[in-house]
Amino acid sequence: MGIATINPATGETLQTFEALTDAGTETKLALADSCFVQYRNTPMPERSQWLMKAADILEGDRVRFGEMMTLEMGKTLKSAIAEVEKCALVCRYYAERAAEFLADVPAQTDASQSFVRYQPLGVILAVMPWNFPFWQVFRFAAPALMAGNVGLLKHSSNVPQCALAIEEIFQKAGFPDGAFQTLLVGADKVASIIADDRVKAATLTGSEPAGMSLAAAAGKQIKKVVLELGGSDPFIVLESADLDAAVSTAVTARLLNNGQSCIAAKRFIVVDAIADSFEKRLVEKFEAMKIGDPMDKDTDLGPLATPSILKDLDWQVQESVNVGAKLLTGGKPLSDRKGNFYLPTILTDIPAGSPAEAEEFFGPVALLFRVKDIDAAIKLANATPFGLGASAWTNVEAERDRLINEIEAGAVFINGMVKSDPRLPFGGIKRSGYGRELGIQGIHEFVNIKTVWVR
Ligand code: NDP
Repeated sequence: MGIATINPATGETLQTFEALTDAGTETKLALADSCFVQYRNTPMPERSQWLMKAADILEGDRVRFGEMMTLEMGKTLKSAIAEVEKCALVCRYYAERAAEFLADVPAQTDASQSFVRYQPLGVILAVMPWNFPFWQVFRFAAPALMAGNVGLLKHSSNVPQCALAIEEIFQKAGFPDGAFQTLLVGADKVASIIADDRVKAATLTGSEPAGMSLAAAAGKQIKKVVLELGGSDPFIVLESADLDAAVSTAVTARLLNNGQSCIAAKRFIVVDAIADSFEKRLVEKFEAMKIGDPMDKDTDLGPLATPSILKDLDWQVQESVNVGAKLLTGGKPLSDRKGNFYLPTILTDIPAGSPAEAEEFFGPVALLFRVKDIDAAIKLANATPFGLGASAWTNVEAERDRLINEIEAGAVFINGMVKSDPRLPFGGIKRSGYGRELGIQGIHEFVNIKTVWVR
């Protein structure tokens, strides 16, 4: 696929972009490298002021940036605007807290003075996905820039306007030339960029194959990588749960971002005692969703980002049904309009070995499992190669403690949906990746944690 803006709601190609030549990439790498030499010494209050300005620019132009995202990848405009606002929040969070997070940490040893100092690494490559085209980038960039690193962004090929707009935001905010640059290049260029001596580390959010490929290329050069990959997050509902709240949250947690979120609830694991009621209400709510033009403020569900996501998702659904899964609602693309629209879908009676049992579904498809009790719920929740987030619903304290302790995931949310928050670390275990973004842990990923010992 070339680098282009293709409206997912109509299929129309709106703009195509020339990929950067190798010489163009070299110019940007050289600029990033020379920028770092100066930038690493800029005083923290100055970086902070620039990041605050970036937050102001984001908020001031939230509608334009929101429309850009909706046009390029199909999320509803209201959610796109909320995403821009969240980016402003993460900028302000790190602008205010970075000095504290990166302050020297004294240690009592046999030295007259010993402490830990956090220093920037240099040029960091960020390979980013289209599903949250602004948020995924800002949650990397805000801590990285505050720590004194410089950023190179290789964004998904279907969101080039977003990629260029983000570069411009940092420029306008006052960051020096080269502190944050976008490289309009295809995925085939990533390995050579990470191999370049001037690039010190990388972060990738996206699919497992992309993560494996980047980690392998970085591994050859002994360079650090943070990976935020897929998930098949469980949403467990036990008998004591507030069912109204659980069902409404289940709908939001599954259909958020037209179903294309790594931390979307994907497997709904419900105990038998309440399963009939949960299922009935979930089906009703899925069928009440308003599908349509994502620019329209009344739309709940827009199109999938690309025709291939739609095709892959439909294949997973059909294949699961072919081997015995029961379709409760949906199960096909919308046939009466152009664009990558897929009906909100629920599958149950999911057989072992089917795609619905084993794979991530990146679209508006809920997978409903019935279990006997909490033991079976936890066992099923953990029976996946992924381990990103988990949402669990109960009002029994002992059950809550078991869920927190026994679920294999980077995050457990009790009586709420999994979401990212600048104040809390975010990331996965198992095949969902490694490393953390956000919080104090996020800003410590791309620093040299230097031990200092003075006699
Ligand atoms: P990809 O993982 O292919 O794309 C994400 C980013 O990685 C893009 O910038 C892409 O560039 C780049 N990339 C792709 N292949 C490589 C590679 N071999 N080496 C280095 N970089 C690479 O996601 P897709 O857009 O193809 O989506 C496919 C699936 O990925 C989804 O169905 C979903 O399961 C998962 N996904 C998960 C996300 C998450 O939030 N965890 C986000 C997006 C996708 P380019 O666009 O140029 O190919």
